[in-house]
Amino acid sequence: MNLEGGCSCAALRYKLTASPLIVHACHCRDCQRVTGSGFAVNIWIEKQFVETNGAIPKSFMLAAGSGKKHEVFFCDRCGTCVWSRYHGAPGDALFVRAGTLDKPEAVTPDVHIFTRSKLPWLDLPADAPAFESFYSIEKVWSPESKERLRRNRAGQI
Ligand SMILES: [Zn+2]
Ligand SMILES: [Zn+2]
Repeated sequence: MNLEGGCSCAALRYKLTASPLIVHACHCRDCQRVTGSGFAVNIWIEKQFVETNGAIPKSFMLAAGSGKKHEVFFCDRCGTCVWSRYHGAPGDALFVRAGTLDKPEAVTPDVHIFTRSKLPWLDLPADAPAFESFYSIEKVWSPESKERLRRNRAGQI
C-alpha cells in the first residue's frame, strides 16, 4: 500500500512508503479544534516512511492530554494540517491526517480514541474498538506493528 496525499494547494505532497502501524479516529478536543470537525483520522507511521516532495511544513505546539508536547505540522502556504508529532508517543513517528490522502477511503480507523469527548450525534460502528481515552498498545496492536515499534524504538527503523 503506497498511500499518497498532500495539502490543499499541493505545495506539499507526500507518500507513505509503508502501511500504517495503526489508524486512529481521535475524538479529543484538540483534534476537533485543529480539524474544525468532529474527529481526526490519524495514520500512525514511522517518520522515515513519510516521504515528502521536499516542502518543509511549519508547525505549532499544543500540550497533549499526557502533558507532553503535541506538534502540529501544516503547509505554510495554505495552512492545511498534514500531520502531528506526539512527543509522548513511543518511537519516532508521525500521525498523518488521513483526510489529506488523495484517497481517504483507503484507510479505515482501527480504533476510536478519546471517545469521552465524542460528539453526541455521532454513532460509532458497533464492532469498532473504542476507548474513553487512550489504550494499551500491547493489547490492541497487531504483532507485526508491535515488532515495527520495537525496531523503531531501538533505532533500527
Ligand atoms: Zn498547501
Ligand atoms: Zn486527538
